[in-house]
Amino acid sequence: MHTDILVMGSGIAGLSFVLRLASKRPDLRITLVTKSSLEESNTKYAQGGMAVVLNQDEDSFEQHIQDTLAAGQGKCNKEIVEMVVRKAPACLQELQHWGAQFDRKADGSLNLGLEGGHSQHRIVHQKDQTGWEIERSLVQQVLAHPQIQVFTQYFAIDLLTEQNSDNKKLCRGLRVFDEARQEIKTIRAKIVLLASGGMGQVFSSTTNPLVATGDGVAMALRAGAKVKDLRYVQFHPTAFYSPNTEGPAFLISEAVRGFGAHLVNRQGERFMFRYDSRGELATRDVVSQAIYQELAQSGEACVYLDVKHLEEEAFKQQFPFIHQFCTDQGIAVKQQNIPVLPAAHYQCGGISVDKKAQTSIPNLYAVGECACTGLHGANRLASNSLLEALVFSAEAVEAVLTQLDTIPDSKVDYAHAYSFSTDWDALAQQGRKSLQHLMTQYASVGRTPDSLQEAEQQIQFLFLTDSSWLADTQQAFSVPLQEYKNLLLIAEEMVKQMRD
Ligand SMILES: Cc1cc2nc3c(=O)[nH]c(=O)nc-3n(C[C@H](O)[C@H](O)[C@H](O)COP(=O)(O)OP(=O)(O)OC[C@H]3O[C@@H](n4cnc5c(N)ncnc54)[C@H](O)[C@@H]3O)c2cc1C
Repeated sequence: MHTDILVMGSGIAGLSFVLRLASKRPDLRITLVTKSSLEESNTKYAQGGMAVVLNQDEDSFEQHIQDTLAAGQGKCNKEIVEMVVRKAPACLQELQHWGAQFDRKADGSLNLGLEGGHSQHRIVHQKDQTGWEIERSLVQQVLAHPQIQVFTQYFAIDLLTEQNSDNKKLCRGLRVFDEARQEIKTIRAKIVLLASGGMGQVFSSTTNPLVATGDGVAMALRAGAKVKDLRYVQFHPTAFYSPNTEGPAFLISEAVRGFGAHLVNRQGERFMFRYDSRGELATRDVVSQAIYQELAQSGEACVYLDVKHLEEEAFKQQFPFIHQFCTDQGIAVKQQNIPVLPAAHYQCGGISVDKKAQTSIPNLYAVGECACTGLHGANRLASNSLLEALVFSAEAVEAVLTQLDTIPDSKVDYAHAYSFSTDWDALAQQGRKSLQHLMTQYASVGRTPDSLQEAEQQIQFLFLTDSSWLADTQQAFSVPLQEYKNLLLIAEEMVKQMRD
């Protein structure tokens, strides 16, 4: 199959890119593949919202820039931070144009929330389901657009590449698996955009859904693209703690602390001010570390969010989804505290891109959580990632439009490299679990040089113990197997960078 533009992923990055491109060039063939349903993505689960400076009397671009730089621990690219912050209002307008609705005050103005690390109320949100609202509106637009061809349950396996006359590798498309037909296919394209999201599934304790296995980053690593800053994993301080639950951890949004919730230990003592003068509104890295230290001293399993002093109706009004979740867990928030623990949440690093979202491989772009733009540095400021995806998808559209018509079609014949087989699925699932647990134990908050060495050894051990069957899978493909291979590759690279 041939197309002009091929996009991998249907979160905010991929969907906004195809919509913008289609509106500028109705003649193009635009194809989007996604490995699950169209909606399933990290985007869908975003709760807090998107940071935008709207009221220049009380807030300013300069303050948002300074807050982002301070959170990023001196590792942000200032030029990128300035660009993203200044383009935020236009991106918000575009989201609204696509039909996304955000909470408003009685006077009709947008109701702006506050989150950790922000010096002003500037978070545009839709209750505590902002991501769902954004995803809903984008999906609706994409499905209504005849020019955009969408394939769901299509798993991207690897990049198709070709050497040019200067011996430089070019991207020529994707090898994909069509789950419904159980067929491996090639899709050739002039331009490929990776919008494949995060990799929280490297850890057993994560807020990310099961699809967040870092496939795009693993593909980029295999193809030799530059990948940066994987060491900067952000751990969200307040994922719901439940000792008996496996799988993605429910997030209790940062906005809950912005709304006035306290973080307390089992004795009910607020402890954050012992660690940072901003208390509960310190940045995520600081709060997660403080929780880790508190628990190391007390030997307890979790800390708590205390919202008992807040007016319940107002809390419920602002956070209906979280309130309902707590009720379903048997927690009456007016009487009981909510147990929480840090969990892997966001990958600040990723495929290295320039300010037009171009990777180090010609014809290959990356946008959203899979990309490393320099905005977040070592630690993302809350609610800056939906924004980053929108800003960079617009930049990518501009760059693609200047480049596209100069790219000739590829003549290379890509043979099928794999055959479909489920023979190794049970082993792959087991390997995935072992990997996730070792990463949470040795490479998450509170990691030390010794624990990272242990993580590295255990990852090598997995490669070795698994080698007897992994070696046999060179030509085999199944989704669980490929996800496991991708997670192993990423974990190895992540730990290596953490140790450097
Ligand atoms: C619980 C939670 C709450 C959050 N809250 C906020 C918030 O309030 N504000 C904020 O700014 N950010 C928030 N974030 C982060 C933000 O949601 C993400 O960074 C952002 O949505 C990423 O968008 P994306 O388009 O890059 O990736 P995603 O939305 O993750 O989309 C990736 C897409 O790629 C697809 N895909 C992956 N691998 C393959 C493959 N092999 N083949 C085909 N398709 C593939 C996936 O199925 C998915 O459709 C939150 C994240 C989580 C998990």
